[in-house]
Amino acid sequence: MFSNRFEYFAPKSLEEALALLSTHRDDAKLLAGGQSLLSLMKLRLANPKVLIDLGRIADLDYLRVDGDKLAIGARATYAQIRESALLRDKCPLLPKTAAVVGDAQVRNRGTIGGSLAHADPHGDMPAAALALEAELKAVGPKGARWIKAEDFFVAMFSTALAPDEVLTEIRVPVLDGERSVYLKAARRPSDFAMVGVALRLRLSPEQTCERITIGLTGVTDRPYRGVEVERALRGQKLSEKIIEEAAARVTDGVDVAEDIHASKKFRSHLARLYTGRAIQTAMTNAAIGGT
Ligand SMILES: Cc1cc2nc3c(=O)[nH]c(=O)nc-3n(C[C@H](O)[C@H](O)[C@H](O)COP(=O)(O)OP(=O)(O)OC[C@H]3O[C@@H](n4cnc5c(N)ncnc54)[C@H](O)[C@@H]3O)c2cc1C
Repeated sequence: MFSNRFEYFAPKSLEEALALLSTHRDDAKLLAGGQSLLSLMKLRLANPKVLIDLGRIADLDYLRVDGDKLAIGARATYAQIRESALLRDKCPLLPKTAAVVGDAQVRNRGTIGGSLAHADPHGDMPAAALALEAELKAVGPKGARWIKAEDFFVAMFSTALAPDEVLTEIRVPVLDGERSVYLKAARRPSDFAMVGVALRLRLSPEQTCERITIGLTGVTDRPYRGVEVERALRGQKLSEKIIEEAAARVTDGVDVAEDIHASKKFRSHLARLYTGRAIQTAMTNAAIGGT
């Protein structure tokens, strides 16, 4: 099926893109990699009258160190992230996550900004952004503001971005001496997550959990932080029993989704299993610099 007719703009600056967004407001949609938006348009589930392509705006796909953080331009693709030596060295959770998104075509076109702004409840990057406590820069007509990842995903396909704002940058910490893992349960390797668990862990030499942050996707209508599991593990010397008990709390207070791929019961089981497995995997991984 073809999309409805639309007007196409390719601004060369962020200011130009913002002006177009302000002019066309609800009629307009931003276009990044098009890996979600174009499918929705062809299915006529999205029918923007105006497309504002971010592809010609210079310097929106950078990956760089900024103080004690890493700054990632919203238009950086999964492929760039996956292959970045800088990220592999300083924040391997992002390349690990990018590596399991879709297939090579999707990874070559799809962007981190598009993935986060789209807020698919089964998207992989939102889980990583939550585990990393990422900060997202939204630029609108009144200037820039920073939104914490945990405040960003407000409902299914819905974020804290205002309709006239563009997500321009994602900031994540340098994982100094921390381990990280992304584990995804999917029917086939290139599929969306039935459940995805992103995790960042700092262990003492005695295997005590000094710090842990967990992001989950696929479980409910939006990506969320596994705060109950984090609380149960912080300060504990990690053992199989403690991990299993903590992982059992991953769906506490969560309305677990049910669909053609997984019943509520099976999805809850996967969430527990993959959370426990992600913690065990992180424990056996070398700290940063390793896998
Ligand atoms: C075959 C296939 C398999 C896939 N498999 C997976 C998978 O396994 N895991 C996974 O996570 N995803 C998967 N995806 C989705 C993919 O990750 C998309 O790339 C991503 O969801 C959207 O990124 P994009 O750059 O393509 O954004 P687009 O499709 O261009 O845009 C998506 C939405 O975000 C908005 N947007 C884009 N950029 C910005 C911005 N900078 N500021 C504000 N709003 C913005 C757009 O207006 C639109 O509403 C798959 C897609 C396909 C086609």
